Amino acid sequence: MAAAIHKPVLLKEVLEFLNPGQNENFVDCTVGEGGHSEEILKRNGPDGKVLGIDLDPVQISSAEWLKAQFKERIVLANDSYIHIRDIIGRKNFGPVNGILLDLGMSSVQLEGNGLPAGRQEKGFSFKIDQSLDMRYNDQMGYLTAEKIVNEWPEDKIENILKEYGEEKFSKKISKSIIEKRRLGRIRTTFQLIEVIKRATPSAYHKAKIHYATRTFQALRIAVNDELENIRTVLPEALSLLAFRGRLVVISFHSLEDRIVKNFLAGEVKKQTLKLLTKKPVTASGDEIRINPRSRSAKLRAIVKI
Ligand code: SAH
Repeated sequence: MAAAIHKPVLLKEVLEFLNPGQNENFVDCTVGEGGHSEEILKRNGPDGKVLGIDLDPVQISSAEWLKAQFKERIVLANDSYIHIRDIIGRKNFGPVNGILLDLGMSSVQLEGNGLPAGRQEKGFSFKIDQSLDMRYNDQMGYLTAEKIVNEWPEDKIENILKEYGEEKFSKKISKSIIEKRRLGRIRTTFQLIEVIKRATPSAYHKAKIHYATRTFQALRIAVNDELENIRTVLPEALSLLAFRGRLVVISFHSLEDRIVKNFLAGEVKKQTLKLLTKKPVTASGDEIRINPRSRSAKLRAIVKI
């Protein structure tokens, strides 16, 4: 199996709105494999820095390569972006001229490919049989997908599948999960996929998007409290920005985008920022063809005033 290569989403647009200038500093809250950070670092020299944060220890090690090229201009932190204020304080970083949030997960995490030895099992991918964990960082939080699937009541499972997964078979799938777990715990990705398969019609199994995608997405969002994280980080990010600092947020889910949109609209009224995007920017057909992750991407950008 070829390793998935992660291509940064909406790269040109991110650079246009972050508009990195000489010696400016940026926080990349979701540094991942470093795709966006690399291009920022090419533009904010000779002394501008990037603070790259990622909750997944494996992702942070995939960004290490930036150090060879950009030396002390790249600072990395394996932490959640909800702690952005503490991290900036701890690293003595600033002033902050721009912040990027590229939400969700990278294609490499999703594919589960190219796993270095000793890589923690996450169970994000429905292509490999792993334990149902789904935490970005297994040192943080105790809620796992396995706990949700085996311990939550049926209506709560149905709800997250419907809301976070926009899964039209949420009722059928949650019912099957309950039936299956009566016979023993559902522990692995493949066991869960089997349950989903049995609960859904065969036409669904031939759809372009894998029939487990929506269930997996819903579980991941719930396990990592992803919507709450966005609600937490947005006001922090805005307050940490220097005057005329830029914030760019890329979301992949309508619930995420709604949180971003409403937060920004509230701040427009308070006159703390100016929108740089009246409508969310989406990927071109060309980009979607070469980078499926960009399919549902929505970018919003602002400047602090
Ligand atoms: N922009 C990156 C890709 C980011 S993918 C690139 O071009 O390479 C999204 C990343 O966000 C993933 O690596 C994921 O591990 C990370 N992530 C998810 N939740 C997070 C959180 N709460 N804090 C920090 N990083 C998080």
